[in-house]
Amino acid sequence: DVTHFLASGGAPGSPTSNPMFSGASQADWAAKRLVWVPSDKHGFESASIREERGDEVEVELTDSQRKVTLSREEVQRMNPPHFSKVEDMADLTCLNEASVLHNLRERYYSGLIYTYSGLFCVVVNPYKNLPIYTESIVEMYRGKKRHEMPPHIYAISEAAYRSMLQDREDQAILCTGESGAGKTENTKKVIQYLAHVASSHKGGTLGRNKEAIQGELEKQLLQANPILEAFGNAKTVKNDNSSRFGKFIRINFDVAGYIVGANIETYLLEKSRATRQAKDERTFHIFYQMLCGTSDETKADLLLGTADEYRFLSGGSIPVAGQSDSENFTQTMDSMVIMGFTPEESISMLKVISAVLQFGNISFMKEKNHDQASMPDNTAAQKLCHLLGINVLEFTRAILNPRIKVGREYVQKAQTKEQADFAVEALAKATYERLFRWLVHRINRALDRRQRQGASFIGILDIAGFEIFQLNSFEQLCINYTNEKLQQLFNHTMFILEQEEYQREGIEWNFIDFGLDLQPCIDLIERPAHPPGVLALLDEECWFPRATDRSFVEKLSAEQGSHPKFFKPKQPRGEADFSIIHYAGKVDYKAHNWLVKNMDPLNDNVASLVHQSSDHFVSELWKEVDRIVGLDQVSSGENSGPVNFGASGLKTKKGMFRTVGQLYKESLTKLMATLRNTNPNFLRCIIPNHEKRAGKLSPNLVLDQLRCNGVLEGIRICRQGFPNRIPFQEFRQRYEILTPNAIPRTFMDGKQASELMIRALELDHNLFRVGQSKVFFRAGVLAHLEEERDLK
Ligand code: ATP
Ligand code: MG
Repeated sequence: DVTHFLASGGAPGSPTSNPMFSGASQADWAAKRLVWVPSDKHGFESASIREERGDEVEVELTDSQRKVTLSREEVQRMNPPHFSKVEDMADLTCLNEASVLHNLRERYYSGLIYTYSGLFCVVVNPYKNLPIYTESIVEMYRGKKRHEMPPHIYAISEAAYRSMLQDREDQAILCTGESGAGKTENTKKVIQYLAHVASSHKGGTLGRNKEAIQGELEKQLLQANPILEAFGNAKTVKNDNSSRFGKFIRINFDVAGYIVGANIETYLLEKSRATRQAKDERTFHIFYQMLCGTSDETKADLLLGTADEYRFLSGGSIPVAGQSDSENFTQTMDSMVIMGFTPEESISMLKVISAVLQFGNISFMKEKNHDQASMPDNTAAQKLCHLLGINVLEFTRAILNPRIKVGREYVQKAQTKEQADFAVEALAKATYERLFRWLVHRINRALDRRQRQGASFIGILDIAGFEIFQLNSFEQLCINYTNEKLQQLFNHTMFILEQEEYQREGIEWNFIDFGLDLQPCIDLIERPAHPPGVLALLDEECWFPRATDRSFVEKLSAEQGSHPKFFKPKQPRGEADFSIIHYAGKVDYKAHNWLVKNMDPLNDNVASLVHQSSDHFVSELWKEVDRIVGLDQVSSGENSGPVNFGASGLKTKKGMFRTVGQLYKESLTKLMATLRNTNPNFLRCIIPNHEKRAGKLSPNLVLDQLRCNGVLEGIRICRQGFPNRIPFQEFRQRYEILTPNAIPRTFMDGKQASELMIRALELDHNLFRVGQSKVFFRAGVLAHLEEERDLK
């Protein structure tokens, strides 16, 4: 029986695996006046109030029976036991951090990983396989309303699907969270669910095999992820299968609700991983899969060596626990067959990956009497050129002595070793990025069935949450900027929905749109002018002669120094150059290499060479060469790096060229426009510990995430309204005992009865509102009524 993995079936105080946190009985709770107090080890621990003295409270810790005195703010009220393991934390009457953590923890220890928190669904990574994703569970959720079933990603998927069909409104499911929190796993479950319930190939009778139930399109849709993961995921310190790109999968349905096609959009592939990896990390899975899984014959064709022969595989062959690279290779290839890739396409892709590795084995030397680079051994270059279908002499010349524009003339200019090394690495990264882009395009071609018009869609976003490392770079700025926008979307949605509910119930209205709070930070990043924001200033600086990362920081401070979300440390001591006060907290940025990262220059001589490759696949990858910004050799002498930006070569191309920041801003703007036209559903994924261990929840780690992802603030905002809502009937049933003579014995409608009861309870008007179908209460009022009920 798997149902206990879905619902606690929870009698109050049902046992959990951690005795310290088992729910107190109703009697205990009322008699001992139980509260939560801060604890280093557990986040919060249970205590009972002994004495209240002004702003101070003396409590006795339940566990150690030690007495401590705390200030009133440090003490958080505990919910009555009947709220134990509630499925929606917005129903808690004591809405505070401690109660939220306690509830998630109690549920987590009982194997209940999904919990609602108002508009959010929170999921804590179990780090073990729970029997909650089987087809019979899918069937259990099918056709059910959200409140009829325990919280689950299937409930969200079902709700999105039904509301798409009923309201004809496009839907979005947004998964965010830190690395390893479970975004991708949950994304796959949404697709699994939809492929199951919305397949146009119904077997009809039960018991038909799976093949009959799933049509070709659904099968292909399910294979998109394994392929994308092979090329876009990698083992990192945090996650053995970390997605190194963001994605938005859009599944299109016809009016009858059948899947008619899908489309994938990807964001910011971490292409630098193709050439360098941190200690104990790997490059993208496909590299190892190819090295382990190909036959000897294919290895010979692809000119493959072993993992430790490649400079771009920093750690050689690093195994992943529980995974076989060669078995996974077979699976990737099988998926590609199902997706309709031809054998030629697959082999062409592998060839390009082999070429990326060969780039790394080219080495340059500094010539004796001058700065010029030379290539004494061209074995690697020969292999590379063979794989890419280009001429090795032309390649060597393009790398060592490219033609560049000086003023109005083209001249050949010898490169230094640093410049040549830089060029080769940039080319390898660009090659891999273009391959990935081609792959996504190819998958879309298979999934995008234009012959049948889609009526509406469900989009699933799998993108990294706020990143706050000790020092942060351009990549973090982009991802934090994204999260700032997503959080704004959430806050705004919450505002609209609350507004609608209050209006429906005819309740006075004083809710604030907290989405507006995020605008200043968003402006600081994306504003084009008056004054320009971070991205615009970075672009401006990229076109400026003799600009450096340093001069960018100076300009930024000059333009935005007084912005309330901008912070410049007094003396940069080789640490942060500036900080931004993001929604999730203050983030320190270091501007090292930002100009280069934003321009992403390439040796355009080599690029046009590859563009003319004799290999059709390779030349296809490089067809957009005119959008490349070449390495500019005008040296300012200030920037010691291999690349310097100056006025000459770049200006001529300014019209066509777009910086990385611009491209990203454009794709984010497009994504947000799409999301704003959907009904969004938010899934907040939480990592329970950093050891990948099942059954362990580190309280402070979880609290930090709840803070960053807006769950706690959502609750704070909730508290400003009337978060607890009870239908009249239920209110009367549960609390009539408190007002024995308020309601006459004769029939009386719910609203009138509730009003009489409330009058008898002598509640302050500020604590409640009576709507059309429910009574609305401020947080904490119900706990108070519960206490009184216990005393009866
Ligand atoms: P990244 O940002 O690095 O891509 P992520 O949020 O996508 O991280 P996932 O790859 O989805 O994280 O999850 C990391 C690992 O945690 C999975 O490989 C799996 O082992 C485990 N995991 C996550 N969610 C679940 C789940 N619901 N059930 C079982 N295991 C899970
Ligand atoms: Mg992922």
